[in-house]
Amino acid sequence: MKPPVEKNDYIDVFIEDLTHDGAGVAKVDGYPLFIKQALPGERARIKVIHTKKNFGFGKLLELEEASENRVEPPCPIFQRCGGCQLQHLSYEGQLQYKQDQVKQVMARIGGLTDITVHPTIGMENPWRYRNKSQVPIGEQNGQVVAGFYAERSHQIVDMEECLIQHEDADRAVQLVKKLAADYGIRGYDDRTHKGQLRHVVIRHARSTDELMIVLVTKGTGIPNKKHLVQALKEAFPNVKSIMHNVNPKRTNVIFGEKTTNLWGADEIYDDIDGLRFAISARSFYQVNPVQTEKLYSQALQYAGLTGRETVVDLYCGIGTISLFLARNARRVLGVEVVPEAVDDAKKNAELNGLTNTEFAVGEAEGVLPWWKAQGVEADVIVVDPPRKGLEESLLDTMLDMNPERIVYVSCNPATLARDLKYLTAGGYSVSEVQPVDMFPQTTHVECVTWLEKK
Ligand code: SAH
Repeated sequence: MKPPVEKNDYIDVFIEDLTHDGAGVAKVDGYPLFIKQALPGERARIKVIHTKKNFGFGKLLELEEASENRVEPPCPIFQRCGGCQLQHLSYEGQLQYKQDQVKQVMARIGGLTDITVHPTIGMENPWRYRNKSQVPIGEQNGQVVAGFYAERSHQIVDMEECLIQHEDADRAVQLVKKLAADYGIRGYDDRTHKGQLRHVVIRHARSTDELMIVLVTKGTGIPNKKHLVQALKEAFPNVKSIMHNVNPKRTNVIFGEKTTNLWGADEIYDDIDGLRFAISARSFYQVNPVQTEKLYSQALQYAGLTGRETVVDLYCGIGTISLFLARNARRVLGVEVVPEAVDDAKKNAELNGLTNTEFAVGEAEGVLPWWKAQGVEADVIVVDPPRKGLEESLLDTMLDMNPERIVYVSCNPATLARDLKYLTAGGYSVSEVQPVDMFPQTTHVECVTWLEKK
C-alpha cells in the first residue's frame, strides 16, 4: 500500500500523541506522521518531509490551534541543539508525559497493565540542575567552538550558555574556548581526527560548591599548560581540581584511559542527605543532585530495611546507594565494573564511618554468582544498570538467590519493562513504579520499582 501522503505535501493535521523521543504524532488515514515540536491536542499546518512504508515525518510550519501546555522555550538555541527536547512543553506537561510514557511502556513491553505507576516526582525549579557538563570542542571556519551536537549529527551548535547546567560550567566553557583561541590550541574535528582539544568536562558539587575541570585532548601535550591552569584558577576561586585526560582514539567515547592531575586534588566532595562522597573525573555520579536525594530516599523506602538485612547493590558506582542503604542494613555488598569508582566507593564508606560495606570490582553478571557460591544470602537486591538493562543470566541468578525484595532503579523504561516481565514470570510481583524527573526539559525518565516475592 502506498502512503496516503507524499513528500512536499502541505497538509493540516491534528496531533494525537507524543513519542518517547518527544515528537508529536498525527495520523492521516491511520498512517502516522512524526512532527518535531508539535504537541498533543494541537492543530497544525505541516510539510511532509519524508515518507516510509509505515510512517513518515513532517515539519511544523504553523500552529492553527496551540496546546494549553505549550510554553515559549527560554533557550535561544533550543531549535538547533539536540540536548533538550521538551522546552516547548510546560513543566506540569512534562511530568504528566513521563508518567504516561512509563505506563504505556509497562503495558506494551512488560504486559504489565494493572500496576501502580505514581505521578512523576518533579523539581521545584527545573533549570540549572546538572552538576556535570561534558562539552564537545571543535572548530568551525577557523574558530574554536564549544557546544552540544545537533540532533542525530556531529555538528556542534556553538553555545554561550546552557540553561540546564550550572552557571560555572557556562563560564568555564567560555573561558576554555577563549584560552584555546588565545594560545593557539586547536579544537578537535571528529571527522578528520585533526586538532587537539576534544572536550571540556566540568563537575560541580552542589553542597560544597567545589568545582572540577577536566580537559580532554587527543595528544599528551597541552600547549601553554601553565598559563591555562593559572587562568582557570584565577577565574574560579571554588575550583578544587584541574585534570587532564588523553583520548587518542577515533571514537565518540569522551574519556581515554589516561587521566593526570594538572593542579589541586584528584576529586571533589559532595554531600547527599548527610553522607559525603568523593567524586573523581571518570566516576559515575547522578547528574541531578536535587532529585538524586529523592530517588535514593525512594529506593531506601522500597528496600524496607529494618537493620537486620543483607543487601546487594549491583552497579553501585561510587557506592552512593550502597551507603544510603548501609545506614539501615546489617551488611551491604556492592559491585561495579569501573575500578576507580570502586576505589571511590571504599573511600566513601570510610569517609562516612560505615564499616558494614564491601565492594568488588567486576561485572555484576560474574560477581553475583560468585557471591552466591560463597554463601551470600541477600534479603534485598538493588540494581541500577546502564540503559541496556540486565542480562538474562543475571536475572536468573537474582531469581535463584530468592530475595524478599528487589528494588530496580532504571534510566530506561523500555529495558526496565522487559526485565520486569522476566522477574514477574520468575515469581515476583511489581508493587509500585515511581518515576523521578532526573532530567527536566529532556525526554529521559528515571524510575524506581519495588518488587516483592509472590
Ligand atoms: N548506583 C550508582 C551508579 C549507577 S550508573 C549511582 O546511583 O550513582 C551504572 C553503573 O554501572 C556505572 O557506574 C557503570 O560503570 C556500572 N556498570 C556498567 N556495566 C556494569 C556491569 N556489567 N557490571 C557492574 N557494573 C557495571
